[in-house]
Amino acid sequence: MDYALDKLTTPCYLIDLGLLKKNLEILKDVQARTGCKILLAQKGYAAWSTYDLCSQYLAGTAASSLHEAKLGAEYFKGELHLCAPAYRDDEMDEYLRIVNHIVFNSFAQWNRFKSKIQNASRKIACGLRINPMHSEVETKIYDPCAPGSRLGIPPDVFKRGTGILPVNHGQDGHATDENPLDGITGLHFHTLCELNTDSLARTLAVVEKQFGETIEKMDRVNFGGGHHITRPDYDVDLLCELITDFHKRYPNLKTIYLEPGEAVALNTGVLVASVLDIVRNDIDIAILDTSASAHMPDVLEMPYRPTIIGGGQGDTGLKPAKHGQGWPSHKKYTYRLAGSTCLAGDVIGDYSFDKPLAVGNKLVFGDMAHYTMVKNTMFNGVNLPDIVLYDPDTDKYKLQRRFTYDDFKNRLS
Ligand SMILES: *Cc1c(COP(=O)(O)O)cnc(C)c1O
Repeated sequence: MDYALDKLTTPCYLIDLGLLKKNLEILKDVQARTGCKILLAQKGYAAWSTYDLCSQYLAGTAASSLHEAKLGAEYFKGELHLCAPAYRDDEMDEYLRIVNHIVFNSFAQWNRFKSKIQNASRKIACGLRINPMHSEVETKIYDPCAPGSRLGIPPDVFKRGTGILPVNHGQDGHATDENPLDGITGLHFHTLCELNTDSLARTLAVVEKQFGETIEKMDRVNFGGGHHITRPDYDVDLLCELITDFHKRYPNLKTIYLEPGEAVALNTGVLVASVLDIVRNDIDIAILDTSASAHMPDVLEMPYRPTIIGGGQGDTGLKPAKHGQGWPSHKKYTYRLAGSTCLAGDVIGDYSFDKPLAVGNKLVFGDMAHYTMVKNTMFNGVNLPDIVLYDPDTDKYKLQRRFTYDDFKNRLS
């Protein structure tokens, strides 16, 4: 996509509403074919100025904090599901006013809030997050099934908690004199990250083996997020088959939910930046008005090397290896692209170009709508990129948000 870069002030995140719609159509089609409901996981994408559009296609939002829940309630028409590792006593009343579903991460949390929820003026469906302890994710910090994980009730604890295995008194933190599943009508698992249907198929097999007899008593199962549904090579047909077959095996289920974040906004936005300076230290280094650390933190955290439109792979030959080693330069002029914070490691990666870079050149980083705006920081006082909405139908660029000194100041004191 060629954007009118001369119209844009940098740095900016540009969300392409046409590409967003394309993803939403795919997700809507999955819902239509299977009867499942798809929620937007706001953790990955929470550009609320597009929620009106998203809510025309998706069933609602998933929130993991009070602020996400409030944002979903305020801007997204649809269901609001809550799922977090633990809830604070002093936030529950507010949750009970806005959410429809609450997923608890332990029997103890469920028991702590059960009577409050059952006495609430609104009806709220409750579920438990389970952890099949079956790892599909290779990057450890993104694997909810890694040894010692706090995310979801593991099979042995669940079986003791529900009386399938003898109870270890005092260890599982629940009252044993009543049915611990009384009031629980859903199960939830989230174990994937950027994965295809083969991973979901293997996960479902383990989930059914470990939790099948409880699934038979539930109204709902939530398959979580991490399904890369809108990626070109994703097997949408197999996803639909897996959902439909699961439903057939558990006819008691009213609804199967998915809650992707990344798949909603995958490849729907770019980050446009400008070259501020070019310095040399054995290699050519372009300093940009953006930052890996502040504006695209997953580049350092995941880590990964974002694509650049019109830029080829590059290898300056210098470490750190993860930033380019193994990618021979495809084009004539190779640069290390680095950020404008004072962090030594604020490096985006090594890239090559057909022409030498010059101060003022604009560079366009691909796939920057998800896990960027939701987790960027004002580290070093570096301002956040503008948020711009591009509508291909009208060919208009709308400056949705520009951040200021006050935004920096107001989160400090
Ligand atoms: C992160 C998360 C999601 C969304 O994951 P994506 O990889 O963005 O699809 C959904 N549910 C839960 C509980 C999560 O923690």
